Amino acid sequence: MTSQKHRSRSFRRIYKKVPGGATHVQYEHRKPKKAHCAACRRPLSGMPQLRAFKARTTAKTMKRPERPYGGMLCSPCTRLKIIENAQAFMRKQE
Ligand SMILES: [Zn+2]
Repeated sequence: MTSQKHRSRSFRRIYKKVPGGATHVQYEHRKPKKAHCAACRRPLSGMPQLRAFKARTTAKTMKRPERPYGGMLCSPCTRLKIIENAQAFMRKQE
């Protein structure tokens, strides 16, 4: 029988075919939730769903888009934010 901790549904089950033809069950933690935009709460694209253990060994460039507000705001919100900032800057100049 499986060990007590693996009977919990906080683990997902992966059914693997082994060379002998039998099927073995592997247990893995479930994926974390997708990252969301800080302004509109839409899920961000270009962001992998990694557990902390895997995220530590993944390059920073692979974890968020390389642009201003990358990994914080979605692209339409970024566009609005940049325009907003430019307008505020222009107002200050006058
Ligand atoms: Zn957004």
